[in-house]
Amino acid sequence: MRKLLSGSAVTLPAATALILALSAMPPAGPAAAAAPSEDDLADLVTIKDVRRHLAAFAEIAEYNGGNRAAGTPGYDVSVKYVVGRLRKAGFSPTVQKFTYPYWLERSDPVMARTSGKGKGKGKGKGGGKGKAYEANLDFATMMYSGSGDVTARVIPVDVPAKGKEGTSGCEKKDFKGFDKGAIALMQRGKCTFELKAKRARAAGAAAAIIYNKPGEDGPISGTLGNPAKLPVVAPSHEVGAELVKAAAKGKLTMRVKTDTEHGKQTSSNVVADTGRGRADNVVVAGAHLDSVPDGPGINDNATGAAALLAVAEEIGELDAAGLRNRVRFAWWGAEEEGLRGSTHYVEELDPSDRRHIALNLNFDMLGSPNGVRGVYDGDHSLGMGATPPAGSAAIEKMFREYFEGRGLPTTDYIFNGRSDYGPFIEHGIPAGGLATGADGVKTAAEAKAYGGRAGKAYDPCYHQKCDGPKNVNTKLLDTNVDGVAHVTQLLAASTVAVNGAARTLPARRAAAAPMWSGGHLVR
Ligand SMILES: [Zn+2]
Repeated sequence: MRKLLSGSAVTLPAATALILALSAMPPAGPAAAAAPSEDDLADLVTIKDVRRHLAAFAEIAEYNGGNRAAGTPGYDVSVKYVVGRLRKAGFSPTVQKFTYPYWLERSDPVMARTSGKGKGKGKGKGGGKGKAYEANLDFATMMYSGSGDVTARVIPVDVPAKGKEGTSGCEKKDFKGFDKGAIALMQRGKCTFELKAKRARAAGAAAAIIYNKPGEDGPISGTLGNPAKLPVVAPSHEVGAELVKAAAKGKLTMRVKTDTEHGKQTSSNVVADTGRGRADNVVVAGAHLDSVPDGPGINDNATGAAALLAVAEEIGELDAAGLRNRVRFAWWGAEEEGLRGSTHYVEELDPSDRRHIALNLNFDMLGSPNGVRGVYDGDHSLGMGATPPAGSAAIEKMFREYFEGRGLPTTDYIFNGRSDYGPFIEHGIPAGGLATGADGVKTAAEAKAYGGRAGKAYDPCYHQKCDGPKNVNTKLLDTNVDGVAHVTQLLAASTVAVNGAARTLPARRAAAAPMWSGGHLVR
């Protein structure tokens, strides 16, 4: 996932359920139910295969500007590598092109209180004894914010009473009598950031400040979804409340400066189906192939892409009983730009093809150096994130049973749709997967169970230049690759535990109204 702003690091919740291996009892349920195929995919797929792919992705990044980001040669060569391997393994992969709006910040934003000298755009830049707020600490630029340098009076717009969420800036009437050229000050709540910014713009605001709602930490790591025509910055609730107070006391003038760029970008997904298996009950197993622009993305996410490729290369060994359901392997593009590839894939499917997808497996970061064996919380036992579609709990259980059977600990990983399974669960498609931790901090209990260092990030090189071949915990990756292979094999044989797919498919309900889009908050 792309981290443009400091935003809030994803620490696995304190309530993380750490499941230590209790017994080596042979698993009951689907593992036993499905007449096992001769071959055990987890044995066929070796860490040697995976490491060969990792080395190739690292070399591709090294010789293509140090990254494999969407829209770069590093990504396009990664696509060619995957396509080449798949063809060699007997697949007929499809390269699905898509276009999406991209956005980037060219230089650091400014948000400062001025002492009131100067009016409107450009004049009175930062004059007077104002207070400058710290970018990415007190405030951040909203994704898809427009560009501009505005110094003007700040006008609070229907801001709610202390501690309330309210509907600040959601209704047209909130802007009655709003001064053209002023800066609209609004609180996060109810409607999307995009609507608030649009309403402010329509009322003649030169810039918008949307501060976080009570109870939320730090600045908002949010998106406007589409390019906006005015600068939009998003401070923490504390800073926002301070500005409301200052504005109530009298004339508050501020400077808001953003320097951003947006346009259209093209990238691609690689999709490859097994030649056998039911086409009306498809197991989609995916991993994103792109990196962030800042580094080669070996843990994030060459580990997932390589694991999937190694499994795809061996799955052909399974016999008819083993491949009752078609398996569709997918390498998603532009995940770091906001789940663009997977969203395009799911949204472009016609409804009947979407109904034929039994479930989605997602693998994003399988080898964090200081990681844990995170299993997506499909049974919602953490009580956080999105409400998983029915069947997701069964997938979680399959991973847990497998690792328990090998005496390996597992950890609940928040099911919040912030990777490429997001677009699937938004259509009520059950999902599951593995992840080993990003910029969150390892707990003492986790360090006891997994080793490594408590109080340190799961991946100290998350989204950085140093996310290279050395930034992979091969032991953790090795066991996770086995988990990927084993559960993919289970589901290729039967998905009855997930969607009862014997004869008819149950009606689906979309997950609760999404809070996230493309990995960023929308409201
Ligand atoms: Zn990732």
